[in-house]
Amino acid sequence: MKARILLIEDNLQNRYLARFLLEQRGHEVVQAETGPMGLQLAAEVRPDLILLDIQLPGMDGHDLAGALRRDPRLKSIPIVAVTSYAMAGDREKCLAAGAEGYIEKPINPETFVAEVERFLNSPREEPT
Ligand code: MN
Repeated sequence: MKARILLIEDNLQNRYLARFLLEQRGHEVVQAETGPMGLQLAAEVRPDLILLDIQLPGMDGHDLAGALRRDPRLKSIPIVAVTSYAMAGDREKCLAAGAEGYIEKPINPETFVAEVERFLNSPREEPT
């Protein structure tokens, strides 16, 4: 299933790698480099899934997940946190902020797309 994925990540290398891996499998990738830009793009492009870095300029991933969850138009879009935080409790913090799941950095090219696709449950409704 091809999906439209919003990637909110400020690190160029991580964006490049994630986009390359997802596009290779046929997914459409829309990118944002800051929290506020991510929130705006989410409303504009209505992605099937949001990949969310936690350490972001402007608005951190926890606050952004909360803002997405409070928006009635956006609250049903699955959010997957992608973060290198290894601190105890960070996974729970991401989930409490509204993320469906968690993928650890560094991105593993062997498993990344399969991990993302686990969170793509409902097919996108295409106009007929
Ligand atoms: Mn970051």
